Amino acid sequence: MLLLWASVAGAATAYGEEISCAPVEITPGPTPADERVRDYPPVFEACDNGDESRLAIRRMNVDGEALLLTVDPQSLQTSLERAACWRCEETSDAAQAETRYLKALHPTQDSARPPALVNAGLIQGAGDGAFVTGDLCPTHKPLDRAFFEKLAAQGPHTPVALAVSGAWLAHHRADFAWLREKARTGALAITWASHSYSHPYVAGLPDRQNYFLRPGVDVDREIFETEKLIIAEGATPSVFFRFPGLVADSALLEHIRDRHLIPLGADSWLALGLRPRPGSIVLVHPNGNEPVGIKLFSRLMDTGAMPRPLRPLNEAR
Ligand SMILES: [Zn+2]
Repeated sequence: MLLLWASVAGAATAYGEEISCAPVEITPGPTPADERVRDYPPVFEACDNGDESRLAIRRMNVDGEALLLTVDPQSLQTSLERAACWRCEETSDAAQAETRYLKALHPTQDSARPPALVNAGLIQGAGDGAFVTGDLCPTHKPLDRAFFEKLAAQGPHTPVALAVSGAWLAHHRADFAWLREKARTGALAITWASHSYSHPYVAGLPDRQNYFLRPGVDVDREIFETEKLIIAEGATPSVFFRFPGLVADSALLEHIRDRHLIPLGADSWLALGLRPRPGSIVLVHPNGNEPVGIKLFSRLMDTGAMPRPLRPLNEAR
């Protein structure tokens, strides 16, 4: 199996070197993200390279080169592309309404009733199996690497979605590099979601005054600074955003969707005792803050109580 992974990685490298219009891979370095990733406006453009179509949701300049963060409107897969390789024109949610991406972004069942303050958005996936998600909220504790080894032991390309906070990433660059290496070698297939930059939280305050509902939260800054950091560290942000505490009012949900991000909840936060069922979006904290959830995850996997297969979040809706 190791040999197979090596040959796949080699082919990808050769392909990337041959074709300059292949998706861009950023190499992490000592230069601060703010100096490498500049001019980062949200856009919504329909792009074509003569071969395939994508939707661009951000433009940026990375190390002096104009890039796009693009979304495949059917698979929801994101990639960083050289702007020079694509012809783009402005589009709208209405014009793209029939794509799988826009249907996931604006699901009809959500608009029928006012959203809950906690856990709105995508909380359960379609079909069987489970969608494993891990939140990396700010902490000084080391990454729970055993959790990821456990996932990797399930087989190559085991999917997991990680909601990264910028403040975690800024202090855990080695842990992030370790995760990227797991993805590069094909041990894990990681979907990088954003979990805000500063992850505002005051212990003891009720939800409606806490997290992103604290006064003075700059939502765009929380979104974009985290995405820029993920890019500078060599990964590609996905279309998913998880609110700190899973807390958001309807204005916040609207704001996130306006930036073309799908709010990500969870129906099986293991540490809260919510058992997974088929299609569950399972939530754990592999940042060292919630060992009880990690232990439960391990036990559910070992006893066969975790619905299988583990599936990539892009398939959830
Ligand atoms: Zn969190």
